[in-house]
This record gives sequence, C-alpha cells and structure tokens, in this order.
Amino acid sequence: MSVAQEIINLKAELPEQVTLVAVSKYHPASAIEEAYAAGQRIFGESQVQELRRKYEEIHLDGLQWHFIGHLQTNKVKYIAPYIALIHSVDSLKLLLEINRQGEKCGRRIRCLLQLHVAQEENKYGFTETECWEYLESGAWKNLKNVELCGIMCIATNTEDENLVRAEFRRASEFFQKAKERFFAGQDSFSVCSWGMSDDYPLAIQEGSNMIRVGSKIFGARVY
Ligand SMILES: *Cc1c(COP(=O)(O)O)cnc(C)c1O
Repeated sequence: MSVAQEIINLKAELPEQVTLVAVSKYHPASAIEEAYAAGQRIFGESQVQELRRKYEEIHLDGLQWHFIGHLQTNKVKYIAPYIALIHSVDSLKLLLEINRQGEKCGRRIRCLLQLHVAQEENKYGFTETECWEYLESGAWKNLKNVELCGIMCIATNTEDENLVRAEFRRASEFFQKAKERFFAGQDSFSVCSWGMSDDYPLAIQEGSNMIRVGSKIFGARVY
C-alpha cells in the first residue's frame, strides 16, 4: 500500500482524540512529502542529525517536527528553535538544558516525561518513583521555558500482549495521578504518548491519545 493510503486508512481508524505522529526516521524527504500531501502534519524523528538535515531540506506549511528519540544534552541547541514537542525527556539534566536553550531562543518548549515501564534495560526513561519525586519537588515550576505536557513510554518489545497492556496501563495510571496531583485544571498537561506500529491498538485501549507510527506507514526501515 502507498504511504498516502496508509495515512488515510490509519486516520479513518483512529478515535477522534488520538493524534498521529508519523515516524519518518530513516525515510527520505520524498516519503514525508507524500504523507504531507495525504494530510499528515506531524512527523517524528529520533536522531538530531537526521532531523537537522530534513529541517533544512523540507519546507512545507504547517508541518510540525516532534523529537522522539534519546536526546543528548549537547544537541538540544540544534532543535530548540523549532521543535514542536520533545517526547523523550529522560533526565533532569536534559530538562534543564531544554529550558536553557528555550530561554535563548525565546520559546517555551513543550516536553513529555519519558517513563521507563519496559522490562528491558536498554530503554531510557525515569522510573515511576524518580518521576514522581521530581514532580513532587516542584522544581519544574521554575523552568519558565519548558512546558510539561504529559507522559511518554515505550512498551517491552514482545509478543506478550498482557505484558504490553500492563505497561501501558501503568503509564496511564501514572498520568492520571500526576494530572490530579500536580496539573489539575491545566489543559496543557494532556498528552499520553504510547503506541507504535505493532501495539497502537492496545495503546489506545489503554489511554493513549498520541501514537507514534513509523514502519506501518513508511515500510521497513533500512538500518
Ligand atoms: C522508531 C520509533 C517509533 C516507531 O516505530 P514503528 O515500530 O516503526 O512504528 C515510535 N517511537 C519511538 C520512540 C521510536 O524510536
């Protein structure tokens, strides 16, 4: 199926409250342009160098870039001027640097806190305890150039649906608790980013309202 047709089918299938991030990493500008022509506006990239290249190359009205991969603090400066949402904030050091770069370019940068819920060591993110303690500390309220907009997670890469569901559910419960305790009445804290090509239907059942879908739309990545 064509990229355009995948986008159209996926959008028709998604509940109204779910936002689609088309993950275009390792795919060329032409694939992004095809998705754009089919109405897609939000694109996710996971490497700064690749995103910088595409940002230079692609000029389309209303196109938004989301950063979804592990972000090194020394690279924040390259994307700070234009990034629409950073999904993958996985340390305080990173959040502080995003705030610093946001200040430099006069922006309030929207961020999600990445929770480590998977049973895999190689995944990044805060543990639930770390994340809760940080929110409890209130230190984030002093970061004037960062806007905390919600929670992101990546489930374990497994066929075990029950495990994946349980991980999404924990993220969803964490989001609800954090919303009530720290962001009550703040509409901006509203994003639950979980679900990829293989698990997005489960993710939506478990409260996701932003899915990050790559290979289902663009085909297999060439590594
Ligand atoms: C690559 C990637 C995706 C998309 O994965 P697919 O399985 O191709 O849909 C989603 N989220 C993150 C963080 C990724 O790195």
